[in-house]
Amino acid sequence: MAQKIQCPICKAILIANEDLVIDDKIEFDYEKIKETDKEVKIIKCHNCKRRIKYYIDR
Ligand SMILES: [Zn+2]
Repeated sequence: MAQKIQCPICKAILIANEDLVIDDKIEFDYEKIKETDKEVKIIKCHNCKRRIKYYIDR
């Protein structure tokens, strides 16, 4: 079951790419992204057109 992931900016449901079809937590917090050593990826929100950085917190 894919989780419904909302855009942290406009709250639209993001279209899940294959990375997001997981049960692990998706972290969008900017400060945490700056500090993580995990791979940071980008998804584009179809609604607000922003490029949103995230990483998978597993
Ligand atoms: Zn958005």
